[in-house]
Amino acid sequence: MCPGPWWCGFVSAIIAAPDDRAGVIDWRSGGFAHLRPTRDDPFPARTVVDHPGASWSPEHPMIVVRAVEWAEQALGAGEIGCPHLGCGGTLTRWGYGRRRRVRRLGAQILDVRPRRARCTRCASTQILLPASVQPRLADTTEVIGTALASKADGHGHRRIATELDRSPSTVRRWMRRATRNAHLQWLRQRGSQALIRLDPDTFNQLPRAASPLRDALTVLTAAACSARQRLGFNEPLWTLIGLHAHGRLLAAPT
Ligand SMILES: [Zn+2]
Repeated sequence: MCPGPWWCGFVSAIIAAPDDRAGVIDWRSGGFAHLRPTRDDPFPARTVVDHPGASWSPEHPMIVVRAVEWAEQALGAGEIGCPHLGCGGTLTRWGYGRRRRVRRLGAQILDVRPRRARCTRCASTQILLPASVQPRLADTTEVIGTALASKADGHGHRRIATELDRSPSTVRRWMRRATRNAHLQWLRQRGSQALIRLDPDTFNQLPRAASPLRDALTVLTAAACSARQRLGFNEPLWTLIGLHAHGRLLAAPT
């Protein structure tokens, strides 16, 4: 059973339901043929954060990866392709990006020094950011996600700010960026795509939630629980949700 917020127990119960299916989907062919369970990452690290307002240029895209360890291993094995269309090169280690101090739940600080990688063919460089943090935000994915879950529970920004020990203005900014309809639809789509690849039956059984925010979080959580259950991923739930959301739990600032 996943540790997680209110909907996770419900989602896990569905995923854990006994069945005779073998495991994950052949996502490469786009078909739903059931294959043996695998620990292969079904989400190649080609996630490019490219929303307007980002602090990086298209020439220096940021790639969101599941875990630092995974990225190190994949870079060493030449398994991460260049994100530039038509290049076809692979990425190798190329130093590190700027060190960041990111606030975790409570008063704890996470020290992050993301890996920088360089393409062997076009020589472009990019940052590989772990999904436990969000680009350009001073709080971890878990903090932002916890705030969103509280909002989905009907709480206002002042109460959420008190719960998380953050300023009300900061939380209000997050909520404005989180609750735009187009963004919530996009989040739901991201979660749906991952869940359909991992566990189409669970996707079909998920009830639609009343609010678009809760709906999006439910699907993303189901996808994250499914990734833990079926692929053996042991990253925290919010990290996997951050991965499925391409590091964009919040919409671009306007
Ligand atoms: Zn390249």
